[in-house]
Amino acid sequence: MHEMSVAIGIMKVLAAKLKEEAPCKLISAELAVGELSGIDRDSLRFALDTLLDEAGYKDVQMRFEQVPAAFKCNNCGWGGRLKNYALVCPGCKGIDLDIISGQDVYLERIEVE
Ligand SMILES: [Zn+2]
Repeated sequence: MHEMSVAIGIMKVLAAKLKEEAPCKLISAELAVGELSGIDRDSLRFALDTLLDEAGYKDVQMRFEQVPAAFKCNNCGWGGRLKNYALVCPGCKGIDLDIISGQDVYLERIEVE
């Protein structure tokens, strides 16, 4: 399951952040989930809940924030969102587009007390 490996990666980042803040109690964590990441949120939530539980973090609130996909045209410099994923630049009709956001899943912030 892809979501489990993503969750493990997030747990590593989380553990490192908590170490910086220690001693503390983790209250909530916010994840940025890219529109193009292909992540199933429910599966990711389940995987994270399982890992958090195993690591001894109870009652941690997980929030997911969707990061929209954004593109940049290497031909005319256009940048922005596409209505569909035809991957054709609305400016010059070129197809030399790079994805500039919306591909990744990462830990946006944590709240501790
Ligand atoms: Zn263009």
